[in-house]
This record gives sequence, C-alpha cells and structure tokens, in this order.
Amino acid sequence: MVAVRSAGRKTSLLSDLVTAHHILHDQGVLDAFGHISVRDQRNSGRFWMSRSIAPAQVTRDDLLLFGLSGNPVDGSSRKLFLERFIHSEIYRARPDVMAVAHTHSPMLIVYSVSSTRLRPLSQVSGFLGTGAPVFDIRSVDKGGDMLIRTPELGKALARKLGQSALVLMRGHGSATVGDSIRQLVWRAIYAEVNAQQQIQAMLMGRVKYLSRQEARHAARTIPNDPDRAWELWKRNAVKRQW
Ligand SMILES: [Zn+2]
Repeated sequence: MVAVRSAGRKTSLLSDLVTAHHILHDQGVLDAFGHISVRDQRNSGRFWMSRSIAPAQVTRDDLLLFGLSGNPVDGSSRKLFLERFIHSEIYRARPDVMAVAHTHSPMLIVYSVSSTRLRPLSQVSGFLGTGAPVFDIRSVDKGGDMLIRTPELGKALARKLGQSALVLMRGHGSATVGDSIRQLVWRAIYAEVNAQQQIQAMLMGRVKYLSRQEARHAARTIPNDPDRAWELWKRNAVKRQW
C-alpha cells in the first residue's frame, strides 16, 4: 500500500513538472531555452529535470533523475543542459527549496543590466521582498560565455540568491525557487508581470512599492492558493498546444 501511494505521488510530481514547462512556455516565460526541476520526494539529494530539449516539447519520457553532482544517476548518455549546475547547487545550498526554474524571460533581463532594482508593486509579487538580488557572472568569471556550466559557478549563483525567491543573472536571465512546482510557476509568471508593470509605473512618476512588511505578509498568504491559477494556466496551455 505504501509503495502504491508513493508511486502515485511520484507520478503526479512528474506530471506537474511536465505541465510546468508547458505553462511557462505558454505564458511567455520560457521560449526555446530554460529549464525547470523538482527535488525528488524520497531522496532529497536528487532532483528531476529534462534532457536538453525545448520546454514546450518536454514529456515524461524526457525526465531524468540527477544527483547533486549535476549528473544523471543512471549514467544516461542523453544530451544534458549545460546549466544544470544552477539546479544542483541551489538544492545543495537551500534545503527548503523543492523546485527551481531557470528562464530568460524578457523583462527580467532588462532589470539584470540596470541599476533599478526589481521590487514588488502588487500583492501577487510579494515574494520579491525588498528587491531581487543580481548575480554578475563577471565577479567570478571574466570573459566567459556567461553560462553556469560548472558546479563552482552554480555555487556562486546560489550564494547570491541567498534566502531570496529569485536571483537575476546579469545579461542572461534569472533563477527562481519555490517550495513546490506550483508556487515556483506562480513566482516565475508574476516576476515577469511585475517587471513589466514596474517600468510602466516608473514612467508615470514616483512608485510606491510594497513595504517590507506588506511583502512578507503577501508572500505568505497568496501562494497558499496557487491551485486556482495553476488549473487556469494549465487549461490554457493545453488548449493552445499545437
Ligand atoms: Zn541560461
């Protein structure tokens, strides 16, 4: 009975992981690039992510189980994402994190190269706290290709993330974390929405952001019900899939 229950949990976890790729593609957060992972429920030193493939095309058969070394536990020879160390090193540094997304979502890149901090201006973005930290790879790797292709670079990124929900990567994208796949998807979508709104608000004058306390409270309450949004986003993604 226990085995059946645990097999069922694993199936729904992996099916949510596949759906998360399709939702974030449908919402314009992931394009041909980017990846999502989820920590394994039975072994916290392992996580699931797809082989190297466009997010919209991910199926259950593309998912592989990785160790915190960033290598597949079954020694698979399938093509892997170069930047899988974003995931392995964040899981290593943050035991509270259950899911990670790396995206190149367009407006977040604008903030990654600007001196303007990405800050929450509505309650759905409270997880941004007092503002997203920015990781400049130049601080640890001058003149490289800007990809997180080693465990050392992954560690440096995880250090900059600290206890935040999201870290911007200068001239590249971002890494977002969550305590579940559904919370992660919420954060990845609303970070991009907030980035667009913040630019609009700044054009109109001085912006009143959420206070530290408002952001903390909003971050605690809103994601308690991420399922309503998840079901809608999922339906839209399925409807629009080619
Ligand atoms: Zn990337």
